[in-house]
Amino acid sequence: MPRSKSPIDVAIVGAGIGGSALAVVLARHGLNVLMLEKSTQHKDVVRGEWLAPWGVHEANKLSLTELYVSSGAHRPTRHIGYSEFESAEDSEAQTLQIEGVAKENPICLGHPNTCNALNEEAVRLGVEFHRGITSLKVTPGSPPQLEYVHADKAHTVQPRWIVGADGRNGVVAQQVGCVREQDEEHHLFSGMLVEDAHDWPEDLQVIASEGDVNVLAFPQGGGKVRIYLGWPSQDRGRLVGPNGPQRFLDAWQVECVPHADAIVKAKPISPCIAYPNSDSWLDSPVREGVVLIGDAAGRNDPIIGQGLSITHRDVNYVSSALLETTSWGESMFAEYISERKERMARLRTVARLTSLKESAFGQDGAALRVSIHERLANKPDLAAPFSAGFVGPHNLPAEVFSAEFAAEIVGAPIWDEHL
Ligand SMILES: Cc1cc2nc3c(=O)[nH]c(=O)nc-3n(C[C@H](O)[C@H](O)[C@H](O)COP(=O)(O)OP(=O)(O)OC[C@H]3O[C@@H](n4cnc5c(N)ncnc54)[C@H](O)[C@@H]3O)c2cc1C
Repeated sequence: MPRSKSPIDVAIVGAGIGGSALAVVLARHGLNVLMLEKSTQHKDVVRGEWLAPWGVHEANKLSLTELYVSSGAHRPTRHIGYSEFESAEDSEAQTLQIEGVAKENPICLGHPNTCNALNEEAVRLGVEFHRGITSLKVTPGSPPQLEYVHADKAHTVQPRWIVGADGRNGVVAQQVGCVREQDEEHHLFSGMLVEDAHDWPEDLQVIASEGDVNVLAFPQGGGKVRIYLGWPSQDRGRLVGPNGPQRFLDAWQVECVPHADAIVKAKPISPCIAYPNSDSWLDSPVREGVVLIGDAAGRNDPIIGQGLSITHRDVNYVSSALLETTSWGESMFAEYISERKERMARLRTVARLTSLKESAFGQDGAALRVSIHERLANKPDLAAPFSAGFVGPHNLPAEVFSAEFAAEIVGAPIWDEHL
């Protein structure tokens, strides 16, 4: 059934972070936007809630930071990496004052809250928003075509352009013929939101490795902390079943983090779904009349918490192309395609290095972690690629992401299957 309202400039599939941020930006400039979302409510399905400082710079460019702050964003100011290989005092002596190196502090805000704030802003600006859609079908072309069912009614629309922002489990990429590849899983990763962690310092974010766990904590204010956990793939069932959340908290019984007890005694208030640690990428995020952004366009391993920042940068590139080009065609995304490819390749290297440095488990893994820590201590310049997670991969020289540089950190080629 054709839709009878005014012609749609851009139809966006997915009202998560990327889709709704783009809807807001385009609507502000007067474009006629249709946004479609599968879920009827944004739920906590364990997504990113730490926007890196470089992602805040991207949000600033989109004029979205104010919206996040007014929606309750929390801004940690210190970062400490603890490990079983050095004392807490030595780790704390290397505390990173985040704003000093990245000219912004990160933003910690719940994923459902962020999506809701962006959705509401999009609707306020005139975006037509439908939730609970099913039977989605995207066909590339000039114009492209979008079919879906909403409130038991079938719709077919032909907007000028379609944006696939349907996340890591989305279907648009496949429907338009994109070829997806992905790394082998290195280990498993999950997240959980806890409350009543009042003894956790609210200005402090932490990453730590000890034994068979890699733990991360990002405070959200008011005693809430988003915690993450990396653990060996061999222990697949660790968080499965009703005792999963408790086992997650138990994993926080690490000696190297002074405030860990505040987390162990906290109260879980979310599920703890597990994900494989790996990157995935597409041959290209563009087809005739269709562009993909965010996780739908290929995602970085969540171990370095870059997906939200990547998505905001995608929104910057794609909105600029749509707003600055009068005659729309695939070529308007040439810069987006090449910049994204390089950006994601760099972050894939950083994620792999971080997995080996923080989440290599077992006897051999522990030996590898020790050797990496020693190399970094002996030659601090080798730590350069790790700062990409704060300052952005595009703000560092290409050579620090080279295979040679990475091999010097690890003592072997980083994609060696034995690592
Ligand atoms: C365990 C874990 C931890 C992470 N931690 C961090 C972190 O700390 N920092 C960080 O920056 N990133 C992190 N990320 C990554 C981050 O969550 C994602 O990169 C980010 O949410 C991507 O935004 P998006 O808009 O592409 O997708 P999403 O925010 O996932 O939104 C996609 C939307 O599309 C909708 N959708 C799906 N299919 C359809 C369909 N067929 N039709 C219509 N709508 C559809 C979904 O319901 C959803 O609302 C983490 C990811 C995981 C898995």
